[in-house]
Amino acid sequence: MLGIRLENVTKRFDNVLALDRINLEIDAGEFFFLLGPSGCGKTTLLRILAGFEQPESGRVLFDERDVTAVPPHERNTGMVFQNYALWPHMTVWKNVEYGLTMRNMPQHERDQKVKRALEMVQMSGYARRSPNQLSGGQQQRVALARALVIEPDVVLLDEPLSNLDARLRLEMREQLLDLQRTLDVTMIYVTHDQKEALAMGERIAVMQMGKVAQIGTPRDVYRQPLTRFVADFIGEINLISGEIKSVESGVVAATDVGDMLGQAGYEGIQVGDRVLCAIRPEAIGFLLDESGAVDNVISGHVQRAIYLGEVEQFFVELASGDQVKLIKYDATMQHVQPGDEVRLGFSQVVMLRDEAEDRDEAV
Ligand code: ATP
Repeated sequence: MLGIRLENVTKRFDNVLALDRINLEIDAGEFFFLLGPSGCGKTTLLRILAGFEQPESGRVLFDERDVTAVPPHERNTGMVFQNYALWPHMTVWKNVEYGLTMRNMPQHERDQKVKRALEMVQMSGYARRSPNQLSGGQQQRVALARALVIEPDVVLLDEPLSNLDARLRLEMREQLLDLQRTLDVTMIYVTHDQKEALAMGERIAVMQMGKVAQIGTPRDVYRQPLTRFVADFIGEINLISGEIKSVESGVVAATDVGDMLGQAGYEGIQVGDRVLCAIRPEAIGFLLDESGAVDNVISGHVQRAIYLGEVEQFFVELASGDQVKLIKYDATMQHVQPGDEVRLGFSQVVMLRDEAEDRDEAV
């Protein structure tokens, strides 16, 4: 188990800047997530940590040891690839044993360790099978056993659950979390699935076009996104344009639907700034009477309601023409229907900088 530091890591492929001056610190024993859309550089970063790729500039440190130029087999990292990359001509046992054989470990020690690794992922009964006789979830567990058997200091996981169906994915999430806790190992997990990152990560680095857009706990990045990109990527968000008119007692923005009170989403916010008032769909409620201590109230009419079982979604058009989305868990209590005039109340508003480049890049 060790801590990792990346200092100004840059990587270019021909004319693509895959990583642009990445600075990151990952604590020993942390379950750390790299989250971002396709092509943002997640896999490249993971491969640099494993030693399969060399950065063009910058340094990679494992604890205080500079491993930038150290080859993969001398780093003691275990990697689980997206497609598992099991060797089809070897049995499950041989696949898991491979890393130990390469380390010239005596047979009896190898046997013990392979046995334990297969037990750990609950695959002991499958040792003699070949990978093509296994389901996706079983292959995934063998790949995990193969990564863990060498007792790595760091485990690198590249979208390890993406080939599994929804139920198995949930089951494997739990197993991975248990393993991470039991083994007390530093794990770095790449995904483009924000739910996976929120549910499992201790901290998440949200990546955007080769850069780290934000690092924080799941709660931080969800509740306090620093940019529109992060707000959009990490969940659903309503955005209403405005201009800051006061930063005295709370931050107030003037918008087309009235003044809005919220909190600054960035440092140095000042009167005159163009902002986006960001509000999560579940933070908005229907105001059916005068009660309710909320900071903001706006009116509109319900355009659409979509019943999804556990929740119901509502789309409300405001006087400005903007559309706001709400997610309600107890909507049946409220009898709100398309066509209804409604008042919406909410408090948790984050004022994000409204930047032209942000507008272009937002997904
Ligand atoms: P995905 O989720 O689709 O796997 P990613 O975030 O992991 O995406 P990377 O695979 O790290 O993204 O790729 C980052 C950028 O670098 C992309 O634009 C990609 O096309 C480019 N890239 C990655 N590897 C190579 C390579 N070997 N040669 C050329 N370009 C590459």
